[in-house]
Amino acid sequence: MRVIVVGAGLSGLMAAQSLSDDRHDVIVFDKGRGVGGRLATRRIGDATLDHGAQFFTVRSEEFASHVTTWLEAGVVHEWCRGFDSEDGHPRYAGSKGMSGIAKHLAQGLDVRTNALVFSLERTATGYNVITDDGVAHACDKVLLTAPIPQSFSLMFGGAIEMPDEMRTIDYDRTLGLLAVLDSANHNVKSPGGMQNPDDVFSFIGDNSAKGISATHALTFHANPEWSRTHFDLELDEIHSLLLTAARPWLGDAQILESQPKKWRFATPRTTWPEPFWIDPSGTLALAGDAFAGPKMEGAALSGLAAARALTN
Ligand SMILES: Cc1cc2nc3c(=O)[nH]c(=O)nc-3n(C[C@H](O)[C@H](O)[C@H](O)COP(=O)(O)OP(=O)(O)OC[C@H]3O[C@@H](n4cnc5c(N)ncnc54)[C@H](O)[C@@H]3O)c2cc1C
Repeated sequence: MRVIVVGAGLSGLMAAQSLSDDRHDVIVFDKGRGVGGRLATRRIGDATLDHGAQFFTVRSEEFASHVTTWLEAGVVHEWCRGFDSEDGHPRYAGSKGMSGIAKHLAQGLDVRTNALVFSLERTATGYNVITDDGVAHACDKVLLTAPIPQSFSLMFGGAIEMPDEMRTIDYDRTLGLLAVLDSANHNVKSPGGMQNPDDVFSFIGDNSAKGISATHALTFHANPEWSRTHFDLELDEIHSLLLTAARPWLGDAQILESQPKKWRFATPRTTWPEPFWIDPSGTLALAGDAFAGPKMEGAALSGLAAARALTN
């Protein structure tokens, strides 16, 4: 069976790996320059900064079994067991940044980046998935793992029905600031993460303390309310407001370089009650963090569950 997976984020890659292990012929398309989606890591000079997901936790046995293999392969490491105080639960991070997890999963798979899927059509035997170079890729089954509004537009174009209630799932936005510093004299103390430290930020991460950056570099994420209010301003203005808001956390350190970052579909505000959705014919499924939980673990479990459903 040939399956086309749209999206090389955690959900799509976990699904693709599982389908490939079951000897199906899998192609993954992603519109991004690299793999990972919201597992995103950027280099600025000698600094390495995660600018999407910052860390992850593990609750289920199924996810734990995968994380164990990532630990053994050196792809992830335990960062800490709590930020403000220790609660005993490990917080894991990608050892070369979060995108390193996606790169690891993509090994051995047919993953095509810079490939925007812009339409989908049913055929007599399955689907044609049409990429932005105009090529129609025939397959038996399709798995869509983009944020739901993006999957919806593909399905709508292909006249494929999606449940009405699913269309109302919206996502919180996140505005972020990446800041490379000249020293460690900032106010983000060990172990290097602060959750909801003030009225603007939901998280501040010290990429050096996390163990991924050779030089001092902080990631700031504004909370959903602040991000929503300021999202449509000019990027320069967002940048300047974030720099002002970050000032109290910089201490005596100076910013050498900084960049703003916008995430339109950061975190689903509500989630679908099932770990995936599959159409009545059993040939097209939807997965991602809007299904099994709005975090990395949910995205991974959703991809795995959708892959099983497509092969049943
Ligand atoms: C700022 C931020 C902070 C976060 N912090 C945490 C955290 O600390 N811990 C945690 O567990 N989770 C966190 N998350 C959430 C976590 O990143 C996500 O739950 C998870 O990465 C989602 O994976 P996914 O595969 O479902 O979706 P995505 O990663 O969004 O993957 C979908 C992919 O589909 C691709 N795509 C979309 N449309 C098309 C198309 N038409 N053609 C081709 N490709 C397409 C996209 O390029 C993307 O790569 C955070 C997210 C953000 C944005």
